[in-house]
Amino acid sequence: MSSFIVMQGHTYEIDRDLGIIWIPKTDKGGNTPHSWGRMKEVKKGDQIFHYVKGNIVAISIARGGCIEAVKPSTEDEESGNTDGYLVHLSYHELEKPVHVRDHFDQIAPLLPLKYSPFQPNSDGNQGYLYPCHEELAIKLLELMSELNIYLVSDEQLEFSIEEVKRTEHNTLIPVLAETESEVQTKLRLGQQKFRRDLMPLWNGQCVLCGISLPELLQASHAKPWKDSTNSERIDPYNGVLLCSNHHALYQNGFIAFDGQGRLHISSEISEEDYVTFGIEPKTRIKIYPDNKVYVKWHKRNVFRK
Ligand SMILES: [Zn+2]
Repeated sequence: MSSFIVMQGHTYEIDRDLGIIWIPKTDKGGNTPHSWGRMKEVKKGDQIFHYVKGNIVAISIARGGCIEAVKPSTEDEESGNTDGYLVHLSYHELEKPVHVRDHFDQIAPLLPLKYSPFQPNSDGNQGYLYPCHEELAIKLLELMSELNIYLVSDEQLEFSIEEVKRTEHNTLIPVLAETESEVQTKLRLGQQKFRRDLMPLWNGQCVLCGISLPELLQASHAKPWKDSTNSERIDPYNGVLLCSNHHALYQNGFIAFDGQGRLHISSEISEEDYVTFGIEPKTRIKIYPDNKVYVKWHKRNVFRK
């Protein structure tokens, strides 16, 4: 079960009424952009967030995997290739769309560096179908739930037009709840496996301070979950074992390790704080050869020099 974000624009209503998404196989130059080719990854049961003009307006569940199909007949007949990729979906439209810009402070930290659906200014990117990792999916589901599921107060229980309208939208509630629980489970199982496999590589203790109390230890990703592929997310070599404090320093880029395992400390941390934070400039940890690519990625992309 995977999640995706589709950028639909003016085709949204047509696609919604047909219960599909569709994109040509190739552009005018004969190439397949990554966000078009990604259609082939969609499997039955996957969930898709629908983005239209600044808003997430619907969530859908794939009724089958991606198939090859010609362009569905619509009024928009002008342009190019009609051979394409199609997925049948059950759409669940939101009564209250999630305006991405309004919540961008919560969304931005979860965006991957590569294949992000949104630009740094919160505008949607130009492509079609983007991956949506579990942490981002959970955030979007939370925002959708906050806006669209509310406790009905006593006064509102009286029969009213408003109430009828809400009842009609009730298919959304089980879909959101079910999807969120599935995504949470996938995320939790992945994190548990990562931790279980990583712990023994570091003798069950923080590589910097030696803390070994399991409750204080974190399997700390080097290449973050949001930027990793599915296999990188659970690769025990994609990270180190750190206590909660050192984990926070590492995740926020205040410290990094290079390919030789040498500790690098951000200039944003003043030298007077080194002792308090339990970090020493000349520290070198013993890393595995398979760690190298990951710690170097972290140092290049997350570390705040
Ligand atoms: Zn530590």
